[in-house]
Amino acid sequence: MRCSEEGVFTKGELVPYGPIELNPAAGVLNYGQGLLEGLRAHRKEDGSVLLFRPDENALRMRVGADRLCMPAPSVEQFLEAIKLTILANKRWVPPTGKGSLYIRPLLIGSGAILGVAPAPEYTFVVFACPVGHYFKDGLSPISLLTEEEYQCAAPGGTGDIKTIGNYASVITFSFLQAESAVYAKERAKERGHSDVLYLDPVHKKFVEELSSCNIFMVKDNIISTPLLTGTVLPGITRRSIIEYARSLGFQVEECLITIDELLDADEVFCTGTSVVLSSVGCIVYQGRRVEYGNQKFRTVSQQLYSALTAIQKGLVEDSMGWTVQ
Ligand code: PMP
Repeated sequence: MRCSEEGVFTKGELVPYGPIELNPAAGVLNYGQGLLEGLRAHRKEDGSVLLFRPDENALRMRVGADRLCMPAPSVEQFLEAIKLTILANKRWVPPTGKGSLYIRPLLIGSGAILGVAPAPEYTFVVFACPVGHYFKDGLSPISLLTEEEYQCAAPGGTGDIKTIGNYASVITFSFLQAESAVYAKERAKERGHSDVLYLDPVHKKFVEELSSCNIFMVKDNIISTPLLTGTVLPGITRRSIIEYARSLGFQVEECLITIDELLDADEVFCTGTSVVLSSVGCIVYQGRRVEYGNQKFRTVSQQLYSALTAIQKGLVEDSMGWTVQ
């Protein structure tokens, strides 16, 4: 789907998966004018395909587009493009319980621009790929390395929108050298961890998020997650877990959480479209390794994981009205 200088997106077309042509002077290549989204489509037992809160992805993309001076497709156009893509790839949606179809919408400044200014033309692309579990050990509890050198987003920056630039650079506490979020995650993986846990950029003691998911803790049956202070992405799964847990009667707090409070939690878990909900089995901070008991104790995470995945896969009635066929 393309959009001209007038800001109106015209109906797009389905093309076979493959490279796309881009002007070397495209805004996205030169000035990072790009946004991404991520959704999962699940096959129900009756063969139909379910999407989870796709309108939230459309709205988040619109918020991001505003910040990057880009026009964005309307919610209806976004949903139509997603549905067409799924329809064309229906045979690639894995059977119930065997994974899902990951859908990646991209909004990029495709028009040529030299000089820091909005691109004169935009392209909205959607592609899809069947996926299984995000972390290599599937549903096993993950291990996190607390990042002490880098933060994922600068105060007042773009950490709260899903722009491609966020994944290309993280900032360093020591002002030595900026690296990318990919680098920080690879470093954690090289040391045997599943992901990196970022701390806040100012005090270096409040918990923020992982490389691509939000974080929660449970202490004395109270669920807490970091407050959205501008450097954390407002995850759709995060919001869904907050709303669902509250509907079950849990007390859920959005607040500042220190790394010490997190290490003292009964349970820790992370949420995101890709990970859905993963238990955290251990966190390393300043060389200290904290383990979170065994599976028997992860009762809240397990309860929320089961409830959320049952809704996403259409195994139970969707009491929250979140799924779209
Ligand atoms: N934080 C970051 C940095 C992410 O990239 C993601 C993945 N979109 C999330 C959190 C989780 O967001 P969501 O639940 O919408 O997938």
